[in-house]
Amino acid sequence: MKPCEMYSPVAFQLDWIIYLHVRSALVPLYLSCDLKTAKGTEVMATLRVDNIVLNGEATRIFCRDGHISEIGGDATEADEVLDGRGMTVLPPLLNAHTHASMTLFRGNGDDLPLMEWLQTRVWPYEEKITADEIYWGARLAGLEMIRSGCTFFNDMYWDFGAVARAVEETGIRACLSAVFIDFGDPDKSKQQRAGIEQTYKTLDQYSNRIQFAVSPHAIYTVSEDSLRWAAAFSLEHNVLFHTHLAETHEEVVNCQQEHGCSPVEYIERIGALNERTLAAHTVWLTESDIRLLGEHKVVCAHNPVSNMKLAVGETYPYRKLRDAGAITALATDGAGSNNNLDMFEDMKIAALLQKYRDSDPTSLPAVEAWRMATHNPAAYFGLTGSEIHVGREADFILVDLARPEMNPPHDLYSHLVYAANGTIVDSVVCDGRVLMKHREIEGEDEVIAKANEAAITLFERIDKAK
Ligand SMILES: [Zn+2]
Repeated sequence: MKPCEMYSPVAFQLDWIIYLHVRSALVPLYLSCDLKTAKGTEVMATLRVDNIVLNGEATRIFCRDGHISEIGGDATEADEVLDGRGMTVLPPLLNAHTHASMTLFRGNGDDLPLMEWLQTRVWPYEEKITADEIYWGARLAGLEMIRSGCTFFNDMYWDFGAVARAVEETGIRACLSAVFIDFGDPDKSKQQRAGIEQTYKTLDQYSNRIQFAVSPHAIYTVSEDSLRWAAAFSLEHNVLFHTHLAETHEEVVNCQQEHGCSPVEYIERIGALNERTLAAHTVWLTESDIRLLGEHKVVCAHNPVSNMKLAVGETYPYRKLRDAGAITALATDGAGSNNNLDMFEDMKIAALLQKYRDSDPTSLPAVEAWRMATHNPAAYFGLTGSEIHVGREADFILVDLARPEMNPPHDLYSHLVYAANGTIVDSVVCDGRVLMKHREIEGEDEVIAKANEAAITLFERIDKAK
């Protein structure tokens, strides 16, 4: 894995100031990309973005095979033109942990204790949810992510194929996994292992925008034997290991009672703590846990809104994890516990929460919150679009600098994190394709209507059977 490349906030701020001075005298920026369809068939297409600034200068960028291949050249051909007047180009946001299809559960069972919510409003419905309903939930999530500038999500849910189909048709990128829960039942474990092995074999039917992870749900829903199997699978196939870890006090207490150690130590003991591991939450940690997460370069995905809404009782120790060497990333969690997928909101709330936690307004400054949502997890997922350079993936967003909350132009990062929300994103490009053009997404109305229908059908079906 390549080390994460970070850019200088000072340079970026300067670029923005330069941009404002040259705003009225911009020349076109050109992009040209080879697109890939859902089935991997290559389709030649070119895209030109006019009147936009990259690093303070008007320029042209040419792309091939979904990558930026030239900046500042004189290529002019274009199958599609995107007018970037009044915009700056930025890397896209990356959502490090979610359950995309849970958009179907949005607003159904808020303000309940965690276990009551899960037992009465989530699990009975998830038990009977169909692949088609999962698909429409993921399509709805895809719309929401694109609208708020996110082109990648790391997902854990019940049907890999259904979510993969949604990702292919939406045009974004994702790391997907069929959630692995056996509750210690050997038959369930056997069945789930076979399912994961089978799903892994289907990978080559998907485009290169889809990655695979093995995802044991948590240490309290998966047996030790199954966790060891998942760790070995991750190692053998060199795929990511995605789990929930150290989310609640109860998880810590039970782990101590059953295994005589903390959840992080337990995961290390079974061989699942390494540079392939992404641990969602990591809020209930000891100093020793933090050291282990840092030593093993684990990605610790922070879900501030979900943690606060479900009142998990502890706060992600950002500074300690960062200083220990862990990879700090940001995520929304599912729409059942957020309730939206707008990473701009999570950036702001994460920054505020750290300041409150540490009683220190210098904790998690804006530029670091931005990196948690963009650069920090990029290398882990093998994504290169977190820098807009030649050779990088053609994934980027156009942000509208004319919006009131983006002015006056004192500090771009401050505005992105503290003043903005996802609606400042004007256009989104992923793998060289324009997914949103000036706030318009093709087929959006139909997706919303179908997702609503899927949610209503799901809830009515289960409620009637009660
Ligand atoms: Zn989660």
